Amino acid sequence: MNDIMQIVMNRDPDEKEFHQAVHEVAESVKPVLEQHPEYRQARIMERIVEPERVIMFRVPWEDDQGEVRVNRGFRIEMNSAIGPYKGGLRFHPSVNLSILKFLAFEQVFKNALTTLPMGGGKGGSDFDPKGKSDAEVMRFCQSFMLELARHIGPDTDVPAGDIGVGAREIGFLFGMYKRIRNEFTGVLTGKSLGWGGSLIRPEATGYGAVYFAAEMLSTRHETLAGKTCLVSGSGNVAQYTCEKLIELGAKAVTLSDSSGYIYDEEGIDSSKLDFVMQLKNVRRGRIREYAEKYPQAIYKEVSLADDFNPLWDHPADCAFPSATQNEINGKDAQNLVNNGVYVISEGANMPSTPDAIDIFLDAGILYGLGKAANAGGVAVSGLEMSQNSQRLSWSREEVDGYLHRIMKSIHSTSLEAAERYGSPGNYVVGANCAGFVKVANAMLDQGLV
Ligand code: NDP
Repeated sequence: MNDIMQIVMNRDPDEKEFHQAVHEVAESVKPVLEQHPEYRQARIMERIVEPERVIMFRVPWEDDQGEVRVNRGFRIEMNSAIGPYKGGLRFHPSVNLSILKFLAFEQVFKNALTTLPMGGGKGGSDFDPKGKSDAEVMRFCQSFMLELARHIGPDTDVPAGDIGVGAREIGFLFGMYKRIRNEFTGVLTGKSLGWGGSLIRPEATGYGAVYFAAEMLSTRHETLAGKTCLVSGSGNVAQYTCEKLIELGAKAVTLSDSSGYIYDEEGIDSSKLDFVMQLKNVRRGRIREYAEKYPQAIYKEVSLADDFNPLWDHPADCAFPSATQNEINGKDAQNLVNNGVYVISEGANMPSTPDAIDIFLDAGILYGLGKAANAGGVAVSGLEMSQNSQRLSWSREEVDGYLHRIMKSIHSTSLEAAERYGSPGNYVVGANCAGFVKVANAMLDQGLV
């Protein structure tokens, strides 16, 4: 484990998010490596931390004033042992190689947990869609795809959305791919319903995180009904997390964006959630406007650079971090535990720092890490790929049924692996070990490639 960390840190000393992700997996899979000398001999760990391919490219585009702009585009093709590379595209100014490598690395194990045949990848750009016109976003997406199209394909690498890449961006990207290749295929997921998208794909990550929380609670013979929940973010994952919480009788009391958060003690009901969806998806406004519309709610400005985030400092039962990586630090974790939170289901990728995870595990609360809890999104992306191949569309009930079964299976697989590898009830060990074993076995079978 020390050797692995040394290799990774020597090779890419500045990639701290990637180091963090590798460290968590390497720690978790120690018992697997002890029981399986064949993995050590085949240097599976050394191979799994090195992307199969990294693509970086210039993305020139013209803004509405006719000025030339230049961004950087990336695609990390991390591991294809169990299927074509699969993972989202993120458009956010913070995007760099470290963040995308951490996301691609996580994706490999997450995809393995879904039981669907998908390898792991991730990509994106440091382009910021915020404040850009639709025409600017379109020109950027077209320029981005002009290069990306050389590297992806329905049987090679199938990107989807992530932060900053929603239905609008997927539409522009797909249109350009189709024009370049002259083919209509399932090369991207998260497509709109009228042209190859799947029902439940927009809802899948949020719904899945709530299903995962329900499964964790069921181990204590409890349900989500009546539970008070803290939710961060106000994008795709946060919105559908709230929607499912409302449906199951729970009460979400917070939402946020990168400027601040709102706390509504009365709860965010369906009509307030409709307002948020309109605000964020159509008007592309800020969450502050929630408190202007519903004055009983409070709004506070927050920055990720602050010592702690007051969003995590309210009395509640459950927390659904659904914004970004490292949004819960050690102090936030302590606040959560002190406030009575005993269920964490991560919609975001790696939202908890290592300190925070230690606090959750020491406190013995139900901690569902992102790799397991937010796998519903990519699972339904996998189902979108199946529907595209069959040229069929499944019903809402059918897809939601699959999603629910997959989340239950990820939960039970993680619990069983945690037990088998000596850490009963520890979803971190369980999910990492189960995902790792599946990928490692495929790599062994396929030889040294
Ligand atoms: P969206 O772009 O739809 O929403 C992201 C939300 O998080 C926005 O409210 C955004 O605020 C906020 N946010 C983004 N960056 C920061 C930051 N640095 N500090 C504080 N807030 C921030 O993205 P998604 O909802 O799709 O993704 C949210 C998380 O879920 C990400 O971690 C993503 O990787 C993960 N995820 C998403 C999946 C999917 O299917 N979409 C699948 C699995 C995981 P603002 O509006 O100000 O930018």
